[in-house]
Amino acid sequence: NKTCAIVGASHAGANCAMELRKQGWEGAIVLIDADENLPYHRPPLSKAYLSLTDGGDFNPLFAAERYEEENITLAQGVTVTAADATSKTLALSNGTSVKYDALVLATGASAFVPPIPGIDTCSGVHVLRSAKDALAIQAGFKNAKDKNIVVIGGGYIGLETAASLQKMSGKVTVLEREERLLARVAPAALAHFFQELHTAKGVTIKTGVSAQDILQTKDGTTVTGTDGVTYPADLVLVGVGVRPNSVLAEKLGTTLENGIKVNEQLQTSVANVYAIGDVAQFYHPRYQKWMRLESVQNAVDQARAVAANILGIPTNYNALPWFWSDQYHIKLQMVGLSHGYTDLVVRKEDDKEDCFSIWYFKDDALLAVDAVNNGKAFVLGTKFIKNNTLVDKEKLADASIPFKPNTL
Ligand code: FAD
Repeated sequence: NKTCAIVGASHAGANCAMELRKQGWEGAIVLIDADENLPYHRPPLSKAYLSLTDGGDFNPLFAAERYEEENITLAQGVTVTAADATSKTLALSNGTSVKYDALVLATGASAFVPPIPGIDTCSGVHVLRSAKDALAIQAGFKNAKDKNIVVIGGGYIGLETAASLQKMSGKVTVLEREERLLARVAPAALAHFFQELHTAKGVTIKTGVSAQDILQTKDGTTVTGTDGVTYPADLVLVGVGVRPNSVLAEKLGTTLENGIKVNEQLQTSVANVYAIGDVAQFYHPRYQKWMRLESVQNAVDQARAVAANILGIPTNYNALPWFWSDQYHIKLQMVGLSHGYTDLVVRKEDDKEDCFSIWYFKDDALLAVDAVNNGKAFVLGTKFIKNNTLVDKEKLADASIPFKPNTL
């Protein structure tokens, strides 16, 4: 009887275990994670969860009984400390070992902590990646009104956290090193919208400003920016991106390049070893580019594809990327990747406030759609991209023409 071992029991790993069973794997499944909580959804950590004042439950990916029903051995609070590809053995922090026939590395990513003086010695400095991190932020944030918060990094995690905490404290400052928000992940048009939104909500946004050092004074913690300003901070949230967790892969000798490099069937360069989710660097045929995506969609879709490959059903991974972000009353939904676009169309729905969509084209080919409070645009954009539909840009920009597939 064969064993599939999965390291990491988050969106990628837990879904992979369930998919293996669903698709007919009859052998043992061992799912191991250093985190002590029942595997949970991470996106709410920076959204609804942070605004709760009383802890609150983490949202489990699957109920505890499901792992039993599916005969999945879930080892929580256990770290895989070593791996050997020749003997196909994993060493665990609880002193045991696991022999595998197939191994899935779903080790995800960790919050990057930049080398800013004081970042690891001053009190009140947090990152946000895990349930434990969210609890620590909440604990440091009782009676938040009028407390000063400095968010370092204006990406999605930084901005979602800023939105959640601004509702509670009213005194959030975001420091962003680049000249605009979301520089790594979204086009300028969208970044501009979010800058205005946060500013209208009273958040101070400083672009082109890095945090230079963090100091502990007798009056509390301060962050000094490259603009020469010293910002008082009852709480500092560092949201400057992540680094893939590839230590185990390195021990196994797999090829690494911005994460664990995998082929179209999500296999690493080492036999019987696969990698999925935030840690996997893959080539996307539609966008003709190597990439590592940090999204729930990518983790879940890769979990499904890798299960099929382990079961001997060759399945190339080529899912269409999508992502979402919630900030205040805004629901942003994105489909496709806008990288390399030559042309964009903004469509504003006349009758609704804060309801629009941005459509990105490379010449005539639709690459991506960002939909702001506009589920219709997201659904339609997804359909158009999947079907390589030619869209009439002039009609698209005209909000008086209804949003229906046969009218654009
Ligand atoms: P991870 O979730 O990083 O999980 C990896 C797991 O591996 C961890 O639990 C870790 O403990 C474990 N692990 C690593 N090494 C070992 C080891 N040696 N031994 C044992 N266990 C190990 N995505 C969206 O699409 N939409 C959103 O709105 C969104 N919001 C987010 C908000 C926050 C606050 C965060 C942190 C992420 C958000 N994301 C969002 C991103 C999304 O959560 C990630 O893309 C997703 O979690 C990736 O899943 P994963 O399983 O690949 O990796």
